[in-house]
Amino acid sequence: MSTSEKLQTRCVIVGGGPAGMMAGYLLARAGVPVAVLEKHADFNRDFRGDTIHPSTLELMHELGFLDEFLKQPHQELRELRGVVNGQTVPIADFSKLPTRCKFIAFMPQWDFLNFLSSHARGFPNFQLLMEHEVVDLIFDNGRVAGVRAKTPRGETAVPADLVIGADGRHSTTQASAGFEQREFGVPIDVLWMRISKKQTDPEQSFGFFQHGKLLVLLDRGDYWQAGFVIPKGGFDEIKAHGLPQFQNDIVSFAPFLRDRVAELDDWSKIKLLTVQINRLRDWCREGLLCIGDSAHAMSPAGGVGINLAIQDAVATANLLAEKLRSGPVSVDDLRKVQARREWPTQLIQGMQVFIHRRVVTGRTSGRKDSLPLLFRLLKWFPILRQLPARFIGIGPRPEHFRSANAGDIS
Ligand SMILES: Cc1cc2nc3c(=O)[nH]c(=O)nc-3n(C[C@H](O)[C@H](O)[C@H](O)COP(=O)(O)OP(=O)(O)OC[C@H]3O[C@@H](n4cnc5c(N)ncnc54)[C@H](O)[C@@H]3O)c2cc1C
Repeated sequence: MSTSEKLQTRCVIVGGGPAGMMAGYLLARAGVPVAVLEKHADFNRDFRGDTIHPSTLELMHELGFLDEFLKQPHQELRELRGVVNGQTVPIADFSKLPTRCKFIAFMPQWDFLNFLSSHARGFPNFQLLMEHEVVDLIFDNGRVAGVRAKTPRGETAVPADLVIGADGRHSTTQASAGFEQREFGVPIDVLWMRISKKQTDPEQSFGFFQHGKLLVLLDRGDYWQAGFVIPKGGFDEIKAHGLPQFQNDIVSFAPFLRDRVAELDDWSKIKLLTVQINRLRDWCREGLLCIGDSAHAMSPAGGVGINLAIQDAVATANLLAEKLRSGPVSVDDLRKVQARREWPTQLIQGMQVFIHRRVVTGRTSGRKDSLPLLFRLLKWFPILRQLPARFIGIGPRPEHFRSANAGDIS
């Protein structure tokens, strides 16, 4: 079945996540006719991280809406601390970053995406089509020439000069394009849950490390967003041991939660989120470019995937907007985006694999109460805390908005 509606646009972006919405906003701002197709009816989805990094905040400043953005409810994390085998260790100090905002802002991802989309909607050449699930690519003589999408009113074809796949870890676009993907084994999954917060609780967000186990508590105002790292595929075994055992495990990391861990009284309150790290060999072919998790799925380790996805979007707009404004771009143009973003991606993914192997799954040897060398160094030498802060807060090869490429029609 096909609907009678025919969409006219130059660039179709598949997926309204951080990569897709930022690319959509920037391309629209630069005067490119662009449509973002998002399969969900709204931006409320499984937890995928609510972190807005200093580099993204810098970008908001460059775009001219930092003040307005920071009026949205959020929490600010200026220092990241861990409790490692019972000892508190400062891990990252964001206060010395060379950015306007020296903190990570925690904001529900749907607020961030709603903010971006409300600004993008101000451009007449921008369309956001919710409940449009892309099911296939359209090919014309081997070139990607658009997408087919399922909508509540039936199926529709959207022709375009360029399709940007920003549809995340289970990307339909990259699968339809037949891209080759390299998987990096990930030994962990994450259980996510909410636990209420009390005024007497510690103020900061925390990571509690204990010999191969990790509990992360993110301060969300009136509750803790808790992430419990488990061995991959280990959720059934945890369930088999029963909820009381699971509650005890949580308390063994963060004893101050003892009086309310019983809030977790049903497994439906505990969500399993599977973790992957992978990367495409080629991110593009004629008429198609993949960015964000669609090109390189990220683990939550270090909380940097959203930042990386946004940086991909900025590079895409910087490198392609001007040409796209007047017509199609070549595969050589698309390769420039991969060439620019591949190296930072490799570096960050390499670091995530390292964190999984050495820190999270506890191959750090030593006594039960001992502090692994890495954490001892961070404790002894405050200057070293600027390295993780830079890596997490800015990342390698930060991108900046290039207004020269933009039509600045706003
Ligand atoms: C458990 C977990 C926790 C994480 N925590 C953090 C964190 O704290 N900080 C951080 O920086 N990163 C975190 N990450 C990584 C981060 O979620 C990703 O790197 C980031 O979301 C990638 O953004 P994206 O826009 O590329 O993809 P996504 O955020 O996955 O967005 C893809 C979008 O495409 C839509 N879509 C999918 N298929 C289709 C289709 N066929 N048609 C139309 N639309 C489609 C989806 O609905 C979605 O809106 C976490 C990851 C996991 C798994």
